[in-house]
Amino acid sequence: MSEGSTVLVHSSLRKIGPIQGGGNGLLEGIQIAIGSSGAVMVVSFCFDSMDPACHWNPPKPEDLEAKRREVAPLSVEAPIDPCLGMFPRIVWRTPGAARSPCLSFVALGNRAEELVTNQDMGRIYGPNGAFGGLSSVNGWVLYAGVGFEAATSVHRAEDHMDMPYLARDVPLRIKIADDEWSEFPEGRDYGCSANFKSVLSVLQSRGELHEGKVGKAHAFLVRHDRIVEAAIFLLESDQAALLCSKPGCEWCARARRILAGEEVGSNCA
Ligand SMILES: [Zn+2]
Repeated sequence: MSEGSTVLVHSSLRKIGPIQGGGNGLLEGIQIAIGSSGAVMVVSFCFDSMDPACHWNPPKPEDLEAKRREVAPLSVEAPIDPCLGMFPRIVWRTPGAARSPCLSFVALGNRAEELVTNQDMGRIYGPNGAFGGLSSVNGWVLYAGVGFEAATSVHRAEDHMDMPYLARDVPLRIKIADDEWSEFPEGRDYGCSANFKSVLSVLQSRGELHEGKVGKAHAFLVRHDRIVEAAIFLLESDQAALLCSKPGCEWCARARRILAGEEVGSNCA
């Protein structure tokens, strides 16, 4: 990573521990490293505008219409999912940041708007949108205090390989205004990432992982395209390579049934 680099950051400020300036200090440090010609990106999901019928554990049929009325229309001002930690909120609050509207990403810096727009809402990890932007600049991904379970880039490989378990049997619907919904019949469902760490050994063997420390946290840096290539390599030899075997993971259990031809598609969000 150097002057002009674009970097997607996955981080845990808690694991990083006290650093000068906290999350703002982390952002400033990265901005100094990449300069004004570079850009910082973060994942900033919001699931609030999706039809509850598309969610994992949808409401009871008799409650569905009431739940649909409660759904907030699509907006770049939607709250960022708390599971992503504080850093995405810090980046989004910084003047000049741009955000895509659905299951979103934020970009800050050179070509910020361009990096996160052009998103295909039914296929957020398709070739357009944030991953198209990151790929177009041969961008990096920094994992600081988070494991490879956070490797959203791996979903890009599942999308590229058109994995059968990404298919939905309940079409993706997103509320775009009060009483107005857009439907994405080809909308894909990207699920469990617990086993994405299996991609790490491929990246390590290929010498693509740059490891170090951010504060107290273990950190690694790798090019986004190399992650996607490594995950595709695994999927080409085993379609279930990225699925976990955790007892109780219904998403991966269902995906395995789909791969075995026992089920057609999933409907979780
Ligand atoms: Zn799983």
